[in-house]
Amino acid sequence: MRFDLLHPREQLVQIMGRIYRYGLTTTSGGNLSVLDENGDLWITPSAVDKGALQQRDIMCLLADGRTSGVHTPSSEYPFHQSIYRRRTDIRAIVHAHSPALVSFSIARKIPDTRIIPQAHHVCGPVGYAPYALPGSQQLGENIAATFAQGFDVVLLENHGVVTAGPDLLTAFQRLETLDFCARTQIQAHSLGPVHTLSDGQIARFERSAPALPSFQAASHSSHERALRAQICHMVRRAYDQRLMTSTEGTVSARVDEGRFLITPYGIDRSHLEVEDIVLIEGGRAEAGKQPSRATRLHHVIYDQHPGVHCIITAQSPNAMAYAVTGKALDSKTIPESYVVLRNVPLVPHGLQYEAPEGISAAITKNSPVVLIENDTVLATGASVHQAFDRLEVADFTAFSLLSTLSIGPLVPIGEDDVRELEAKFG
Ligand code: 13P
Ligand code: ZN
Repeated sequence: MRFDLLHPREQLVQIMGRIYRYGLTTTSGGNLSVLDENGDLWITPSAVDKGALQQRDIMCLLADGRTSGVHTPSSEYPFHQSIYRRRTDIRAIVHAHSPALVSFSIARKIPDTRIIPQAHHVCGPVGYAPYALPGSQQLGENIAATFAQGFDVVLLENHGVVTAGPDLLTAFQRLETLDFCARTQIQAHSLGPVHTLSDGQIARFERSAPALPSFQAASHSSHERALRAQICHMVRRAYDQRLMTSTEGTVSARVDEGRFLITPYGIDRSHLEVEDIVLIEGGRAEAGKQPSRATRLHHVIYDQHPGVHCIITAQSPNAMAYAVTGKALDSKTIPESYVVLRNVPLVPHGLQYEAPEGISAAITKNSPVVLIENDTVLATGASVHQAFDRLEVADFTAFSLLSTLSIGPLVPIGEDDVRELEAKFG
């Protein structure tokens, strides 16, 4: 779907709905705006249920100074106007109070986007605006002055966050990604210090887009078409379960020997369609499509593991808490976790570019899920369903382990119980 072709009213309604459903704001909190090519500023209304906005609720501050619409515009319109005045490249603004970002704002700490390269790619560095009364010119000045320094993402002291971009989808993706960073860091905190990436490691990611030769797919078998639908379904489900964000998370599925399907680079995970999925054949990509940056890694795994039919690489915050601290995720918690995950190896950051064979070698019958430091949770399976289940079980297990740290102590399953599970479940 071409989001940019939607009217600003429709864009604001869709994105506020997503922000609310994704748990990033309350009924009363947050506001969004879009500045169109006429200089008219479309903005959400003040104090109208943010979980149920309709197109007729959207307000417009016209370029000629008049206001149109049936409500009062957001009380924060002064800061929206100040940002647009100071940064002419910005055409859309998102403000929200997600619980994780509010935690950072009341601890007066800035979430680190260097925990995974993808997050740094989407958000860049994060600015900080000092507290001022909501709706005041002073708050507008504090926020706009921080955006004027070049930040696209600004934490508001004791309040929340403002993100901006050339369009509303980009501004939303920055909010969602920064919230992911905040949730991951909060979860990681009880495990130990969070490792962050160097400029060199981030630059390595930026150079990693695959430049594969292309081919024209002559026809598409029923089996391939069924897999396309399964991939789309699972990606949307992973997004709804907050195991992926709209910009991050890759699913691939083997079609036959030498061919697999993989999700594209840069297409919104919640609106993925079958035609977006890219067929890879003998190292070539279906013409006109940009496959995921993880294509080479997936390719190596399919070559070396004939029993693997689906691979998911995703950033789910609880499992990623282990990947950003370098701590072992021990699945000997409940029978389901151990039977589904077995041992979860942690492999060093950088292998995904320099030596994907090293990651592939860590995947065995007894370790179908691997954590890549400061990068990803990698789940493999004999089917799309099995790989998805393993990703979900990995994140749920990590969540339980992390929660146990605050109510503890953690009592693992005994060695005899583990042997009994191995005997029964193979
Ligand atoms: P509005 O409902 O007026 O947009 O205010 C919400 C908010 O988050 C204030 O900071
Ligand atoms: Zn607010």
